[in-house]
Amino acid sequence: MKCRICGNPMKSTVTDLPFKTSERTIVILKQLPVSQCLNCNEYILDDSVMEHVEKLLSKVSESAELEILRYAA
Ligand SMILES: [Zn+2]
Repeated sequence: MKCRICGNPMKSTVTDLPFKTSERTIVILKQLPVSQCLNCNEYILDDSVMEHVEKLLSKVSESAELEILRYAA
């Protein structure tokens, strides 16, 4: 896979990313598998990963201000 920003090769890695799920809720997903550009650090989530992320995020209570979840494949 190549970076859509700069065209350099991307490598698979794991990272922690924050997601804002509502006006006041932030969810941090730990150890998320992504493809990251070696040149500009742009990253892409695979469709299957994104689906799992959406499932995880949908379970988070909207009354929570901060949730930290571990992405488990
Ligand atoms: Zn790039």
